[in-house]
Amino acid sequence: MKFYSTNNKEVRLSVKEAVIKGLASDNGLFMPEVIPVLPESFFKNIEQRELPEIAFEVLKPFFTPDIPENKFLEIVQGAFTFDIPLKNIENSISVLELFHGPTSAFKDVGARFLARVLSWFVKDLDREVYVLAATSGDTGGAVANGFYNVEGVKVVVLYPSGMVSERQEKQFTTLGNNISALEIKGTFDDCQKLVKGAFLDEELNSKLFLTSANSINIARLLPQMVYYFYAYAWLKNKNSDLVVSVPSGNFGNLTAGVIAYKMGLPVNRFVAATNINDVVPQYLETGKYTPRTSVQTLANAMDVGDPSNFVRLLDVFGGDREQMNRLISGYVVDDKTIKKTIKDVYDNTGYVLDPHGACAYTALKALKKNPAEGVFLATAHPAKFPKVVEEQTGKTIPVPEEMKKFMSRNKQSFVMNPSSTELKKFLMK
Ligand SMILES: *Cc1c(COP(=O)(O)O)cnc(C)c1O
Repeated sequence: MKFYSTNNKEVRLSVKEAVIKGLASDNGLFMPEVIPVLPESFFKNIEQRELPEIAFEVLKPFFTPDIPENKFLEIVQGAFTFDIPLKNIENSISVLELFHGPTSAFKDVGARFLARVLSWFVKDLDREVYVLAATSGDTGGAVANGFYNVEGVKVVVLYPSGMVSERQEKQFTTLGNNISALEIKGTFDDCQKLVKGAFLDEELNSKLFLTSANSINIARLLPQMVYYFYAYAWLKNKNSDLVVSVPSGNFGNLTAGVIAYKMGLPVNRFVAATNINDVVPQYLETGKYTPRTSVQTLANAMDVGDPSNFVRLLDVFGGDREQMNRLISGYVVDDKTIKKTIKDVYDNTGYVLDPHGACAYTALKALKKNPAEGVFLATAHPAKFPKVVEEQTGKTIPVPEEMKKFMSRNKQSFVMNPSSTELKKFLMK
């Protein structure tokens, strides 16, 4: 499969080039040149298939034979190791829990897959491979854990000293092995500047292969299709219309769902659920896309004012808003409603939502018409947001084992001034 840039459809890169580059030279995002339709035989017995098997079938057209089939099977088996259960919480409404990975958030899916694909593509390079990640909190954990123990790649996480929560810090400072953490005596902006500077340093780049494994990489997006098929497999026998609600920030998750739809996934409608950062619902309604500065909300992983994957979403529909409206409905949820939903759903069903899942649930309830089956995606474990969740449910949220493991380990970090010379010295030694 070849990939083009959303800024220039004439560009054609191999999957290896697209994954290593991450972003196209013209600043566009990579898209597959065709979206293949899966054969009917794939859907026939999909409910009998395990997650890695579904992943292999769905992703194979994009990654093989560039990656040999047997190696690719190993990659999906290494990436899709945790459970993604679908739980029915009330009549015709189920939740797809995407938070059972190492950092208790759905980004583990994309990060684990990207890490293994990248490791394969860079294995023949003559330089050591470093992933540099500046983080203000959650990204560091997802990247570090995605690459943990992955052969041939070292990860360096840069974070502002004293400015991330202890829980976040432990997710990337306690792993060891191929993961190191640089505790920068400065701000998140300093960390980002250091990373950018390192990418521009010729001497450094002639000795080492530096990459950012960032969130717009196509190999982080495509594996997110897999769980939409998996959810369908659970509900296939219901034989009714399927509506899927996706809590959205940068819109990678929803774009993956839409590409899955183009591959033949029998979904009737997607709901794009946002917090009050609602530029995409606004676009769906008015046809005007007006990026703006993001506002802080309780669903903070969705506080995005100019979603990076919006260009991909447009691209899938050939820029035609009417087509987009036929498949996607937008819905906006404010903080007050997030709180009320967490409380009401707990009182009525006993299910504990996190603020992001609460947005998706609210939007689904508002837009789904009976007798359709509704699924909403829960993207983070409620224990990641103890304050608001415990306030609304009046219940102590048990911390999942994955999160406890980190808390009991010792932090190891290198404290460093925000100095590009010091960073360079660290990387070269
Ligand atoms: C990143 C994130 C989202 C938003 O996903 P996008 O693909 O950026 O739309 C939603 N919920 C949680 C918990 C996240 O971490």
